Amino acid sequence: MTIEHPHPQEDPSGERLVHSPCHCRRCGRVLQPGRGELYVISILAVADPYPPVYTESDLSLDVGSEIRRLIRRLGSTEADEARDEVYRREVFHLCVACYQRWIDRPAGSE
Ligand SMILES: [Zn+2]
Repeated sequence: MTIEHPHPQEDPSGERLVHSPCHCRRCGRVLQPGRGELYVISILAVADPYPPVYTESDLSLDVGSEIRRLIRRLGSTEADEARDEVYRREVFHLCVACYQRWIDRPAGSE
């Protein structure tokens, strides 16, 4: 039995669609999609999703002034900045050589 899967990179006329070249985020090399010479890196960073932990000193704060402080802070934060503090997604390309160096230490060289 043969199951035919339409190839996502082919258009209805059967011609292979050519994706535009992209660049390695690290070394800037031009990369041609579809030739196995790149990795797509997708990073999702989410601010601490765990329930808050309160200490004795947190509980002894004047709640009213703390709320006013937070409202002032939010009021002065642009919407994009506020969103970036909570959630950020990055998608980029790396060449094979840069990928192999990066994946061993994705968080840096510390
Ligand atoms: Zn590279």
